[in-house]
Amino acid sequence: MRYCKIDKEGQIKLEGDPRLLYAVMLGMRVWIVCSVWRFTAYASIIAGRYAVTRRQFNTTPEGSRHKERKLLDYQAHQQKLIGALAQSITFNLAQNYLGNYYLEFIQQLYAGSENYKPLKIIHHFSAGLKAYYTNSVHSTLTTLRESCGGTGFHAFSGLPYLCNEHSAYVAFEGDNTVMIQQCAKVIIDKV
Ligand SMILES: Cc1cc2nc3c(=O)[nH]c(=O)nc-3n(C[C@H](O)[C@H](O)[C@H](O)COP(=O)(O)OP(=O)(O)OC[C@H]3O[C@@H](n4cnc5c(N)ncnc54)[C@H](O)[C@@H]3O)c2cc1C
Repeated sequence: MRYCKIDKEGQIKLEGDPRLLYAVMLGMRVWIVCSVWRFTAYASIIAGRYAVTRRQFNTTPEGSRHKERKLLDYQAHQQKLIGALAQSITFNLAQNYLGNYYLEFIQQLYAGSENYKPLKIIHHFSAGLKAYYTNSVHSTLTTLRESCGGTGFHAFSGLPYLCNEHSAYVAFEGDNTVMIQQCAKVIIDKV
């Protein structure tokens, strides 16, 4: 281990600048922020396809080819799907900013820079976005799964896999409760 030594008594000693270690470790949290929009994008595609093929209730006008309406014809259903899609798109746009900012910072460190000023803002930004994004995606995935009725609970729909895979995101790389507190701290410091 290049930056960490453990002696025979089990004592851990960090070597090198702890800010550099923290900067590298932050990469995983930034990666979470940059990637979770995909979960809602995939789930929206699945739920969208279901909504145009599944028909429920005999409410179509006389003479219509189909007796029952598509799920997508129902306004309540549209709201669920459009909200999810909008979330996926906006999360994608915002993650670009953080991802590029972090990449620029880390590349400068690798090039020998000792400017750690961006570290604090990246820490607070990534903590807040990680908590907000993963909490939101967690709840959106549940909505999308439910929008596919019982089929959303079948493994073959792909939705149980997405829900299960994402469920740990709220805990790893920092539990969201603690992440929100970290983000709030910078705002309170400014007041
Ligand atoms: C699938 C998965 C993979 C993981 N992979 C890795 C890995 O590769 N490497 C690694 O190092 N770690 C890994 N972890 C560990 C992960 O980073 C920790 O589980 C996570 O940071 C939460 O810490 P904890 O488990 O100690 O929870 P705790 O800190 O014990 O939290 C338990 C509960 O207490 C609450 N809580 C804790 N502190 C506060 C506080 N200050 N204020 C209010 N509430 C609080 C939390 O909100 C939470 O509800 C992984 C975890 C999971 C689930």
